[in-house]
Amino acid sequence: MIAPKEGVLVLLNARKLRSSRDVALTLVHAFVHVDQLNRKGSRALRIRHLQHEFHVQALHPSQVREFARLLKEEEAEAQHLEGRLVDQMQRAA
Ligand SMILES: [Zn+2]
Repeated sequence: MIAPKEGVLVLLNARKLRSSRDVALTLVHAFVHVDQLNRKGSRALRIRHLQHEFHVQALHPSQVREFARLLKEEEAEAQHLEGRLVDQMQRAA
């Protein structure tokens, strides 16, 4: 999640992580999202969406749909890369 001063806060539920592979998959997944948050305009877009969600400033319905589409794409990217990158790291170890 976004944090103050251009920071990113990553929270992990350690009780759900049963193996070193679970830890690796979760960390890689989280850091793909960190990379996505650092892409140009991403942080500002998320802040605008939060303002919409908290009824501070409404977005146009098409912007809400576009944001939902982006989140879906980013989640798919993170899920795709987590397994691929962890497998590469384990082969290299
Ligand atoms: Zn995710």
